[in-house]
Amino acid sequence: MLRQYELVEKVKAYDPDADEALLNRAYVFSMKAHGSQMRASGDPYFSHPIEVAGILTDLKLDDETIVTAILHDTIEDTVATHEQIEKLFGPSVARLVDGVTKLSKIEAQSENERAAENLRKFLLALSDDIRVLLVKLADRLHNMRTLHHVPSEDKRRRIARETMDIYAPLAERIGMYEIMNEMQTLAFRQLEPDAYASIMRRLSQLHAVGGDLVSRIGLGLQLHLADHGLEADVMGREKHPYSIWKKMAERHISFEQLSDVMAFRVIVEQAEDVYRALGLIHQRWPMVPGRFKDFISTPKRNGYSSLHTSVIHDSKMRIEIQLRTREMHLQAERGLAAHWAYKEGKPATEVKVPWISDLVEILDHAESPEELLEHTRMAMYQDRIFAFTPKGELIQLPKGATPVDFAYAVHTDLGDQTVGAKVNSRVVPLRTLLDNGDQVEILVSKGQHPQPSWLRFVATGKARAGIRRFVRHKERDETVLLGRKIYEEIVERLPAPLAKEALARAIKKLKVEDADALMIAIAKRRVDDDALIEALMPGAAGGDIAPRPPSQRTAISIKGLTAGVAYTLAPCCHPVPGDRIVGLRREDESIEVHAIGCDTLANGTDADWLDLAWGDGSDGGTARLSVILRDVAGALGTMAGVFGAKGANIVNLALVHRDGSFHTFHIDLEVHDLAHLHAILAALRDADAVSSAERL
Ligand code: MN
Repeated sequence: MLRQYELVEKVKAYDPDADEALLNRAYVFSMKAHGSQMRASGDPYFSHPIEVAGILTDLKLDDETIVTAILHDTIEDTVATHEQIEKLFGPSVARLVDGVTKLSKIEAQSENERAAENLRKFLLALSDDIRVLLVKLADRLHNMRTLHHVPSEDKRRRIARETMDIYAPLAERIGMYEIMNEMQTLAFRQLEPDAYASIMRRLSQLHAVGGDLVSRIGLGLQLHLADHGLEADVMGREKHPYSIWKKMAERHISFEQLSDVMAFRVIVEQAEDVYRALGLIHQRWPMVPGRFKDFISTPKRNGYSSLHTSVIHDSKMRIEIQLRTREMHLQAERGLAAHWAYKEGKPATEVKVPWISDLVEILDHAESPEELLEHTRMAMYQDRIFAFTPKGELIQLPKGATPVDFAYAVHTDLGDQTVGAKVNSRVVPLRTLLDNGDQVEILVSKGQHPQPSWLRFVATGKARAGIRRFVRHKERDETVLLGRKIYEEIVERLPAPLAKEALARAIKKLKVEDADALMIAIAKRRVDDDALIEALMPGAAGGDIAPRPPSQRTAISIKGLTAGVAYTLAPCCHPVPGDRIVGLRREDESIEVHAIGCDTLANGTDADWLDLAWGDGSDGGTARLSVILRDVAGALGTMAGVFGAKGANIVNLALVHRDGSFHTFHIDLEVHDLAHLHAILAALRDADAVSSAERL
């Protein structure tokens, strides 16, 4: 384990201005906080954050990042709090530590590639400072290095899988190939122990036969270049077991057939020497067609530049060669961290490039337009949030999304049946804004339908379309129902019973498609009473048909009340028969009847609640509507006409708002029951003069 002074010296070596006191304070704080906690290896737990900090000093990261690494498990695993850390180490470190803590809570539940991809994006979106991600990657790397101490095989496999699917690709995306390679090797060893062992065995057999082939070939390359006056460093290595295995799997070849297990790097000082070296090598050894790539003239979007080629070496062995300058090499090895590393003479704040734009550049090793598109979306991550289903599936949503958006994003059926939602196990209103990392459970009920009022707060087009589609269907159903009522009323007034085939004949005669279409035409007054009567019973129209009976108001009754107790229908929510109702017992023992959705109930009250229901045959109630009329001639008359035609009495009417060409009226209306009210609303909405009609 790194000692305190060793760590401080390491940082000071590349950053003489590093805050030594801050580093010392962090070391002591973390040691005390972790106390006697142990790692699976039997080492003190405290050794882990120090080693993670050590990994990051190799990348020459600034003192705040190193301090964050030292403290990264204190909030999660000890009694230390955010406030303490903020007080001792400042808001910037506290924010970074919070960020790492947040990332650590996310567990991969990926069973497929898409889920893994989502999780990677999620982790990126959560790391609003790239240093958070760097600490997390170093944390994971150290956990992988010590993975063999974990006793449970299941757990070892899960951690290795997660590393392979999530963290190694993230390291690759930000250009940290060293970390990626080590993660892959360690994870591969855990996940495919047999393949790993066999590759290692074959490699050592190859060594036994060829001696140190890598050094010999490397030296040969270097001498060949030197013969032509070009000084170069040549580094050779066997490829990592995981990349050998991947190649074997991809090309379906055996280890014997796999000839390019060696890769070399030729490093020169000047950019033009890179091309000279390439020319010299191609002259001496035949190149393998199709393997040459020029990432100097066209660098990868993550900034990577090099020349890649493969040649057939003297021993008939294919070798891969990467050629680059020293600067390109540093960039390739350190990736984004190289941007972030302490730069001499500049305070850390000036070195901080806006990470998101940087990341967009760097993330893009995109080669196809689709890929490019995908990566440009990265820039928009700040506008997106990620929430989980109870099963751990990640759902991506725009900022401002609500549980209703979430439900529709999962499935249209789920959205249609939504009645409520739990966020992080707490029941919340459907208009609640979701946050990154929220776990959302949608509460459903088969009989429920989307509410038009949701349109006021949903953020996604999918939710909006789902609600609209449903509202349209519902309005259609209501219109059919309304038409049927009018139809039945008319049939009753006919002088004689209808013949069986009368309806079919009328449908044909009035040129409508079917019975439903006829009912809609009736409800919408496209067919007037006389025309309908004539179609149903030729010659009957104009005869002595009784006028429509006036609507009658009968007393309502309520179940659940003691006989004789006084009650009033609450003036706030205006319940009508058909509404679900609850009674509140007032101080004077009288009962106020509220609709279940009433704000008075939601705002809490000390009064007793009584579970009530409407009595059979209850009829009559005053509903309050809000109707917005367009400023067109006769608009008010149209509205009054609808009420008249439906047999509803206006009790009160007030113009509450005037906005250019829209007039908002609040109307108290006597109706029979909920179905009656809905029919009225449907007819209002259908009128051209009416912009919207809703119950208040
Ligand atoms: Mn850790």
